[in-house]
Amino acid sequence: MNLKQSIQEIQRPFLIAGPCSAESPEQLMTLAAGLSGRIQLFRAGIWKPRTRPGSFEGLGEEALPWLMEAGKAHNLPVAVEVANRDHVEKALDAGVNVLWIGARTTVNPFAVQEIAEVLQGVKHVPVMIKNPVNPDLNLWIGAFERLNKAGIDDLVAVHRGFSVYEHPKYRNVPNWEIPIALKEKLPDLPLICDPSHIAGKRDLLLEVAQKAMDLNMDGLMLETHPDPINAWSDSEQQLTPEGFNILVDSLILRSRAIATEIADQLLDLRQKTSILDDRLFDILSARMRLSEELGRFKKEHNVTVLQPEHWMKIIQKRLGQAKDLDLSEEFVRQIMDAIHQESIRHQTRVMNRRNEQ
Ligand code: PEP
Ligand code: MN
Repeated sequence: MNLKQSIQEIQRPFLIAGPCSAESPEQLMTLAAGLSGRIQLFRAGIWKPRTRPGSFEGLGEEALPWLMEAGKAHNLPVAVEVANRDHVEKALDAGVNVLWIGARTTVNPFAVQEIAEVLQGVKHVPVMIKNPVNPDLNLWIGAFERLNKAGIDDLVAVHRGFSVYEHPKYRNVPNWEIPIALKEKLPDLPLICDPSHIAGKRDLLLEVAQKAMDLNMDGLMLETHPDPINAWSDSEQQLTPEGFNILVDSLILRSRAIATEIADQLLDLRQKTSILDDRLFDILSARMRLSEELGRFKKEHNVTVLQPEHWMKIIQKRLGQAKDLDLSEEFVRQIMDAIHQESIRHQTRVMNRRNEQ
């Protein structure tokens, strides 16, 4: 299949769905039947890069013919994740239509180079490249360049968010400015969002998918499973085919074209500010959770919430940075006071809680 062309031709969004992991021929067949007619590409993980050993690591090549049969029976092209030479060779031998490079592989230039070298000379194979787990735009771009140099030009980007240590809401932080910057640098590259790995939870999928549509992304990749709570991997984020249909039907698809050139630019700028504000509030929320930890610690060691000398020191430090940050001292003062008040509120709440150490 020509993936880039199919994405460009179809009315937004181009839809990719299927299980996190292939589990059995029946699972794949049931899902393909449930999704057929609603999606353009059927995905399944065969080799799973897992964070900790001992988690289910995929059934491997045994599952490839099951996937091919499910796709053929329901007229769906199929995609699998590949992370090394062996995976690529086996997937291509089986007749897989589209390959994708996962976030934990994009991060490693040696692995991406190995994949590019196996693909060198292969007549036509579309490859989707997920962002690297760390928020590094150039590393993501580098992966496209490596495949391009090997003669692969049917390339598509998949935004799946970035790893952080504890996020107040999502499994991976979206950092929407990074896919936007990718689109600015590589305007012809189709961009698909993977809300499943960003959200990590079923009830957050719709808001992430809607955001991706509002940011003009071309399509969505969503993990689906006939029985999500019993899935062998990523059970909290997968949807049944019915849930998938409800989500897709709930999306509000706004027109890409806005009446005037100015309105378009304005929307763009507003979206960028809103993305930064999202991050500010995420950071503030994490900051307050840390304040609560501080409160617990102070309670345990029987010290007061406020140490005036400490507060004087930190406020002076921030005021001293105002000029370099191009912020007025007055603004810095207001922000610091607001953060401090909120932090005291959180600490006091924790310290006055009964029975808490
Ligand atoms: C997946 O799509 O199942 C997967 C492993 O995703 P990621 O590479 O984004 O973690
Ligand atoms: Mn998954």
